[in-house]
Amino acid sequence: MARRLSSIPQAGETRDCLDPWNTMLLQANGDVALCCWSKAVGNLHGSSLSEVLRGEKARELRRTLLSGELIDDCRNCPARGLVSRGALKVKVEELAQEALQRAELRRWRTHAQVLEADLIEQRRHNATIGADLEQQKLHNATVHADLTQQKLHNATLSRELAALRPHAELLESDLAQEKRHNATIDADLTHQKLHNATVDADLKQQRLHNATLARELASLRPHAGVLAADLEQQKLHNATVNADLTQQKLHNATVDADLAQQKLHNATLAQELASLRPHAAVLAADLEQQQLHNRTLALELAALLPHAATLEAELATLRKHAQTLATERDALAKHAANLEAEKAALEKALGRGVLGRLRRWTAPLKRMLGSG
Ligand code: SF4
Repeated sequence: MARRLSSIPQAGETRDCLDPWNTMLLQANGDVALCCWSKAVGNLHGSSLSEVLRGEKARELRRTLLSGELIDDCRNCPARGLVSRGALKVKVEELAQEALQRAELRRWRTHAQVLEADLIEQRRHNATIGADLEQQKLHNATVHADLTQQKLHNATLSRELAALRPHAELLESDLAQEKRHNATIDADLTHQKLHNATVDADLKQQRLHNATLARELASLRPHAGVLAADLEQQKLHNATVNADLTQQKLHNATVDADLAQQKLHNATLAQELASLRPHAAVLAADLEQQQLHNRTLALELAALLPHAATLEAELATLRKHAQTLATERDALAKHAANLEAEKAALEKALGRGVLGRLRRWTAPLKRMLGSG
């Protein structure tokens, strides 16, 4: 129990004072004191406030109060009563505990703020990865659609090429047949020319024979009647041979015209075939290029699918991490609320203690003033 303020401390007693642990007075000249009654423990000109509060003089003042080896200022202090050293030590420890709890509360609040910021960052990152994943899915869908369109185009090109191939084969077959027919007509024409030459030679021979007969007729006038009849017969034979030759020539002309027409037709077929071949080659090259492009698209799609799976796995991990952070944040918030409640209770208890001490300090002063 505290004694009268002016009492001199006895053995085992000290001043009931916590000012050196929770009070600071700064004077205009820079002096720093730990209460209104003791001397300054340092000056801010040349030292920081922290250095002064943790300096040798400040620690010595606190040590003397705890040990009961009071300095003169404390020994004669009119503001504080007396208390056992053990009781003061308990109060100082409570004060230190309160300070530790406040520091812990500040530390937990800072940690909760860091976790909150981390959670917000993770959520932003999750949103970014989600958007990236959606974009990849859209790209995959586009690649799929492109691949499908390319396949349809390839199928169309294949059908067109398949439709053109029989026509090209038919044209080639027709051209080969026409060439064979032309060869036959050429052989027939050669044969006719040989026949015409034979007929010409025969005609010349008949003429020579006619001349011989005429000479023989002249020499053989007596047999003129017979020879004349023979001559007439030979003339008729010559006329027949001439008509046959004329008919053969007309036939040759017809064959020549037919051959020329066949050649023109062959040239047209050859031109058409020549014009179709580049188109078929272009179609084949286009088909090959499309197939190559399809393989490239398939490879690209195969390469994108694992990346999409990786992104989805990362997103799931991040979501799990975000849930863990949220749980940890809730636990910290709960712990902070508990600390707040504890702090409020301590402050309330401390307020009651300070008020009691103020009452104890002011009572002697009031008595002194009343006696004065
Ligand atoms: S006992 Fe008095 S002089 Fe000593 S520190 Fe406390 S208030 Fe200051």
